[in-house]
Amino acid sequence: MSEAPAGSQRAAKRRSLVVGNWKMNGSAASNEALLAALKAAPLGDAEVSVCVPAVYLHDVADSLHGGAVHWGAQDCSSHESGAYTGEISAAMLAEFGCCHVIVGHSERRALHGESDALVAQKAATALKHGLVPILCVGETLAEREAGQTEAVVGRQLGAAIALLDKRIDGVVIAYEPVWAIGTGKTATPELAQEAHALIKSLHDTRVLYGGSVKPENAAELLGQPDIDGALVGGASLDPASFSSLCQIAASLS
Ligand code: PEP
Repeated sequence: MSEAPAGSQRAAKRRSLVVGNWKMNGSAASNEALLAALKAAPLGDAEVSVCVPAVYLHDVADSLHGGAVHWGAQDCSSHESGAYTGEISAAMLAEFGCCHVIVGHSERRALHGESDALVAQKAATALKHGLVPILCVGETLAEREAGQTEAVVGRQLGAAIALLDKRIDGVVIAYEPVWAIGTGKTATPELAQEAHALIKSLHDTRVLYGGSVKPENAAELLGQPDIDGALVGGASLDPASFSSLCQIAASLS
């Protein structure tokens, strides 16, 4: 792990965390092949996790149990239990050995109208059940162009800090500029670093970058002082790309 330069206030760079977000992709057969390839691939010593569709958690837990790769889910309910048809509780995810759960992904904020307050509540519920929430924040293109990045990210993170107080220390933040997700457009390393430094000025924790991360751009992004890993969508479905990303991340921790 690299140390901060002498005299610097900056915390030492953290061990990298690389999280695959499979989104709504896969099938029982294709997952089996993907997991087999993942288990056989050299991943370096980065911390690695895959967040999979909930219906596959049983199979994924079975396959990854006892190995180095963690697993998790892509969302959880803000409620403990009850009449919430279609929702999955944090307690249920914990029963399947989940380590991580993504909350507040921009696709859920945009497509399911999830508010900052709801996302914060989901993080609280996840923490209560021993899961590590990966709380996504990030601005849309219109917000960036209007100079609102700082305000948007500050508002999203602020809601979680206000609710969680000291418990926020158990949360991993993922900075995912919405315009870079699944678009092939990546934030420049400088721009991503600037956003990560802003986030760490609000709360000093592990901050992952997400948005079209692939082996070709990973070294530059993950080499930034305040980028502690990556949340990876598309490239996590390709074992060779994901393995290569994990190795790059490990080499830069
Ligand atoms: C994501 O969905 O969190 C993501 C970063 O996707 P992609 O890597 O495909 O842009």
